[in-house]
Amino acid sequence: MNNPFFKIDERILTLAGRAEERCRPVFEEIDRRAEYNAMKVLSAFGEHRVSESHFAGSTGYGYGDIGRDTLDAVFAQIVGAEDALVRHNFVSGTHALTTALFGVLRPGDVLLSLTGAPYDTMEEVIGIRGEGSGSLKDFGVHYRQLDLLPDGTPDYAAIPEAVKGVKVAYIQRSRGYSLRDSLSIAHIEEIAKLVKQGNPDAILMVDNCYGEFVEDKEPTQVGADLIMGSLIKNPGGGIARTGGYIAGRKDLVELCAYRLTSPGIGKEAGCTLGENRNMYLGLFHAPTVVASALKTAVFAASLFSLLGYEVLPKFDGHRTDIIQTVCLKDEPSLTAFCQGIQKGSPVDSFVVPEAWDMPGYESQVIMAAGAFTMGASIELSADAPIREPFAAWLQGGLTYPSGKIGILLAAQSMLEGGSLTLV
Ligand SMILES: *Cc1c(COP(=O)(O)O)cnc(C)c1O
Repeated sequence: MNNPFFKIDERILTLAGRAEERCRPVFEEIDRRAEYNAMKVLSAFGEHRVSESHFAGSTGYGYGDIGRDTLDAVFAQIVGAEDALVRHNFVSGTHALTTALFGVLRPGDVLLSLTGAPYDTMEEVIGIRGEGSGSLKDFGVHYRQLDLLPDGTPDYAAIPEAVKGVKVAYIQRSRGYSLRDSLSIAHIEEIAKLVKQGNPDAILMVDNCYGEFVEDKEPTQVGADLIMGSLIKNPGGGIARTGGYIAGRKDLVELCAYRLTSPGIGKEAGCTLGENRNMYLGLFHAPTVVASALKTAVFAASLFSLLGYEVLPKFDGHRTDIIQTVCLKDEPSLTAFCQGIQKGSPVDSFVVPEAWDMPGYESQVIMAAGAFTMGASIELSADAPIREPFAAWLQGGLTYPSGKIGILLAAQSMLEGGSLTLV
């Protein structure tokens, strides 16, 4: 749509019209799922009789914080888990994942990743990288990894044998900074069966970051024992100001709570200050916000494939997370793309992103993010490690119109920077 607010080349707009038109059936499916998930959330709020009193913040120890305890119960019901630990005290997704791993694993135990190398920040947690910083390895937890097959899929046939003697089998639903397909709920269900077949005692943990509310079910409903994620991604709905969650089997959630606070104290302490209302409101909005992010991703895939770039997934491909990868071929294109996304942000639109050495990441990273919540990737953002194949990992979009503008400005920025050829 042409407009007096943003300068976008006519040729990009024409192509965008075509790109959007073919997304219509996909958008309908996304709306249908958002409606289903919104009902799931709404009914959990109702059944747990959420009311104004749950939004009051506690201070100090936070004993008897009914808002906190009810939020745990609501969240557990939504994801089909026995219990949950939803806390603003988690500083990030990595922190929630770390808490879960340290909560459950003991010296001498084996942790096995079934989806190849884990997310970059988990390497130091596990001890693949770095030494003496208190990683799992420093505490005597052994790590093994079942590499993905050359086509990027898990080695299903090898799972039953590989999990023998293992305490925790770990899978990452979203592809993170890799180019494999993310793991659908159906695939996670298949993995869960193979894990239990090979070792009924193995605990199946899923890094669920970016996956919440994208499908009708969560991993805990298809055999995962524990899932973890970040509240500045999907389940925070763009409103939670910080935090993370762990959900799953009650005994395991308790162990994680002992790790987050202290053995013996667990879930019973931890004041919520003023954060409950934001977490409830964010969770309420999450299904529709996730739908906006998905539409933004689908539109980006459609437009950039018409522009001649390789995208993953394709606009009509199956999705199980909100991530869209666009392979931009070289560093100048990647930089221009991220700078365009930044221009479409509601906050810090005047900032020009550049590559930097981000803590916890191995190569330099360029990030476009102009968010109400710092680093919130449920808001439109793009991150890209400066390495082959110069792909941008795009995610978020609190509303589809703003997400779409961001994508158009990314194309415009590439055009102005000379890295886009249009006929
Ligand atoms: C975001 C993310 C994490 C955690 O990252 P934080 O920045 O610490 O929240 C872990 N795994 C995956 C797949 C992620 O997308």
